[in-house]
Order: sequence, then C-alpha cells, then structure tokens
Amino acid sequence: MPDVLACAGRSVLTDGVGLDEAAVLAVLQLPDERLPELLALAHEVRMRWCGPEVEVEGIVSVKTGGCPEDCHFCSQSGVFASPVRAAWLDIESLVAAAVETAASGASEFCIVAAVRGPDERLMAQMREGVAAIRAAVAINVAASLGMLTQDQVDDLADMGVHRYNHNLETARSYFPHVVTTHTWLERWQTLQMVAAAGMEVCCGGIVGMGESIEQRAEFAAQLGQLAPHEVPLNFLNPRPGTPFGDLPVMDAKDALRTVAAFRLALPSTLLRYAGGREITLGDLGTRDGLLGGVNAVIVGNYLTTLGRPATADLALLDELRMPIKALSTTL
Ligand code: SF4
Repeated sequence: MPDVLACAGRSVLTDGVGLDEAAVLAVLQLPDERLPELLALAHEVRMRWCGPEVEVEGIVSVKTGGCPEDCHFCSQSGVFASPVRAAWLDIESLVAAAVETAASGASEFCIVAAVRGPDERLMAQMREGVAAIRAAVAINVAASLGMLTQDQVDDLADMGVHRYNHNLETARSYFPHVVTTHTWLERWQTLQMVAAAGMEVCCGGIVGMGESIEQRAEFAAQLGQLAPHEVPLNFLNPRPGTPFGDLPVMDAKDALRTVAAFRLALPSTLLRYAGGREITLGDLGTRDGLLGGVNAVIVGNYLTTLGRPATADLALLDELRMPIKALSTTL
C-alpha cells in the first residue's frame, strides 16, 4: 500500500486537493515516530496554499449561559448544573470590546450568543450593535447565533455580517451522542442557507468527545464537503457539571495529529485554534500547531474558560515571523 504522506505530498501539496476520508484515517493512525514528518508536511501545505499570514479574531458573548439546548460539552447549556449564569451584554460594552479587539491587531470580531437560534430581541440587538461597531471601528464583524431561518440569514447579510459561525461539532454519525435537542441536519441546513446568502461560512467542532478515530476522519470529510471558509478546531475541555465533564483530556500527540490531518483534508481553509488548546497541549502546543497547519487564532477568552492572554499569542507570531493578516476589503 502506498505511503499516505508520500501520496499527500503529491495530491495535497502539489495540487491542493484535500485528502479523502480513508486517507485522513490513515494519517490519524500514523505512529508517534512519524508525527514530526506529518506536522512538517501540514505546515508546508499551509504555507503553499494559505501563505504565512495568521488571522487573528476576538470574540465577545452578547448572551451567555441559559441555553435551552443540551450539547453535552457546553457549560452554557441551561439543562445541566454548570456554573455559567445567563447574562446579556449591552451595546456600549459590545462596541468597547470591538474597539479593544481591533487595537490588538485582529481583523475579525465575532459576536456570539448562547441560544438555539436568535429571537426578535437578539436580532434587534444585532442590528443596533453591528451598526454601532461599523461606525466606531474598522473590523470585520462575524456572528454565531445558532440555527437561523431564511429571513434571519437575509437580515444578517443585510446588516453586513460577513461571516457566520455554526459548528457541526462532530461527525454526523456521532452527533446524537453529543446533542439530543436538535439534529446535525438542522445545523447543516443553516450552513447551506448562510453559504447561499454569500456570507463566509465558519464551521468546525470539537475533538476528544469520545468519538472514534474513524469518526474524526468522517468529520474531516464532511467538512471537506461543506468547504467552509474557516474551520475552528476545539479540543474538549471537560467542564464540571456537563455530561462530558468526566471525559479525559485528549492526548497531546493525538491532538496534533488531528490538527495536521485536518490541514491535509482542507488545504486552503483557515484552520483556527479555538478552545481547549492550553489544557490539551500546554504552551508549546500553540507553537507546534502553528508549525503544523494552523493559520488562525482567537485572542482573549473562549466564552466560558479563559484562554492565553492576547499578548502571548501575538508575541509568538512575531517570533515565528508569521504576520497578522491585515483587514481585508470585505468591510
Ligand atoms: S453549544 Fe450552543 S446551542 Fe449547544 S448548549 Fe452551548 S450555547 Fe447552546
């Protein structure tokens, strides 16, 4: 059988064609001794198809906690006895957060709400908030507000929201073990509407939730089919009080293998390190990931757990000679 990395060197690196599910699985099964070789190839693919720039994004939560859904990893669900309390952010604080994010050099500011989908109150707040941000500071505004109707998709596009985040979270075959209050297909349908409306699609998920390696490969292939602009990759950070609170933290080498495998599946996608990287990989993992396929980071907090301070990530990018992606003309 031909060596999977040799094949990837040809198809992914040279032609920019992502690995299929079987090849991703073969990569995820590579022994630890081949991890440096794998990370080096993933880095080469990222440099070839995305360039050295790193996209920096800040996120803010306008509505935290009290969500009616039961995503088993999420401490913002109101269904579990987790410690995050429901809270709303006002417009003034929202704009201040956007200004602060832009000052860190970030080009993206994502407004997030812990909801099944937006209601009238949240859509009104978005309209007012996005307009106030755009009047105050030059930064791309993204949103993550759960499942949408067609009218809500149209409204968000109309407001100038240029990217919409909605994670599939995991492979379709594993999703019912993670969420029971809605389906993978419902999430998929929102993503199709977002793409059709011309907004950039941001869609990723969480690994280390008890899925098999085969299901990790399945998830990468399903993301490949969706072809999102951005894939945020989270590693489970088991939160007390959630059904996944007692799961073990993912092995660091498995996490890095997953990062590299996702890069080989999605050669030209923005691959963003999102939550859980500190607990899974420690400080060194950020460097390894950025040299193993990752080309986007979130600065500041991760909604429910504190991430690394922005200055640590920005200093690392400087050291690695990876320039921060400048604000594009999509404003
Ligand atoms: S992941 Fe989103 S939809 Fe699921 S419980 Fe958390 S906030 Fe709600």
